[in-house]
Amino acid sequence: MSQPCVNIGMVGHVDHGKTTLVRALSGVWTDTHSEEVKRGISIRLGYADSPFMKCPKCPEPQCYTVEKTCPNCGEKTEEHRTVSFVDAPGHETLMATMLSGAAIMDGAVLVIAANEDCPQPQTKEHLMALDIIGIKNIVIVQNKIDLVSREKIIENYHQIKEFVKGTVAENAPVIPISAQQNINIDILIDALETQIPTPSHKVDKPASMLIARSFDINKPGASIEEIRGGVIGGTLTEGVLHPGDELEIRPGIKVTTEGSTRWIPILTTVSSIYAGATKVDEATPGGLLAVGTYLDPTLTKGDSLTGQMAGVPGTLPETRHQFVMELHLLDRVVGVTREEKINEIKTSEPLMLNIGTATTVGVVTSARKNEAQVSLKRPISAAIGAMVAISRRVDSRWRLIGVGVIKS
Ligand code: GDP
Ligand code: MG
Repeated sequence: MSQPCVNIGMVGHVDHGKTTLVRALSGVWTDTHSEEVKRGISIRLGYADSPFMKCPKCPEPQCYTVEKTCPNCGEKTEEHRTVSFVDAPGHETLMATMLSGAAIMDGAVLVIAANEDCPQPQTKEHLMALDIIGIKNIVIVQNKIDLVSREKIIENYHQIKEFVKGTVAENAPVIPISAQQNINIDILIDALETQIPTPSHKVDKPASMLIARSFDINKPGASIEEIRGGVIGGTLTEGVLHPGDELEIRPGIKVTTEGSTRWIPILTTVSSIYAGATKVDEATPGGLLAVGTYLDPTLTKGDSLTGQMAGVPGTLPETRHQFVMELHLLDRVVGVTREEKINEIKTSEPLMLNIGTATTVGVVTSARKNEAQVSLKRPISAAIGAMVAISRRVDSRWRLIGVGVIKS
């Protein structure tokens, strides 16, 4: 399998079939965390790589498959393009995870179940998030067509078209599929090939990576000799990375001495790089990577570095404990049954802020109509001009209310 060159997000309402579709396209069931298996929902971001295969004999779209032999003619298929899927949770309480996933998506598949009315609350909220974050390459999947009649599928299709009117997904193709029964997967791959092209990546810049996950990969009770260093997972936005390269991680770790707290960047060296299951000597932007380091694995355990940045020492954006952002608020709260009007941001209200893969809470220290200053509970590494997804507590849940741009 070649290195994945593009990240495609799976977004949409809970239970509409995102994880099943990732499995149909990659063979990987991304709900593996014990709590996820127990509750039957995705909680963390899931990853899976999938090589799209192409039959040299069959015409488009029938030529596309994920199988090694063509399901139509039995011919041996050839590797076409490898993509990484980012499987976002669809539950309404997990918007922060969805938003940090959206930061690493080059395009997205909006999964909509054909056996329910459209839109369901998180169908709407996720599409709004794609819009806010600026993800324009979208394919809509109408899933579970095996469960409903042809007439129902058509009715649901019209609901979908009505719903996306005036949004970024207005002209996105709608592909009817069954993820569970493997129906129309070839047509879906064909649509992904044309709608979500491989982005051109800046490889001549210093390496810069958004961290989406971090792990301790050691088995309990491993002996000292067997212990492997901490692993970070995420995507390179710029530059190239090799084993042996030095790496800085920001904001790093929190250190409290004599009552005062500071965040100190971590310095380490890359020990190995995996793109999917393949060990690589060089990683380039696009696709998800697992980067091995020489860090104490307690530093990377349980996603503790999620939201931080990694890159060439001395080149990462500064660590910010506060910032001023320009505001662009939505008109109404989405993702709830009762869609209330969004009021102006007020001094001392807490906001949930997503910047890159980071989630933090910021308390508003001063607010004007188009601008707000926030003081962060947990600092971030971010540059001027970085985009901020802003959520507010509405009826005890965080709801997306708009976007900000860091000004100072
Ligand atoms: P997610 O929450 O969007 O990740 O949804 P899952 O992939 O976990 O699927 C939710 C449920 O719908 C599971 O029981 C799946 O087996 C089922 N499901 C998913 N896709 C299909 C489909 O195409 N047809 C049918 N009949 N069931 C499906
Ligand atoms: Mg899922």
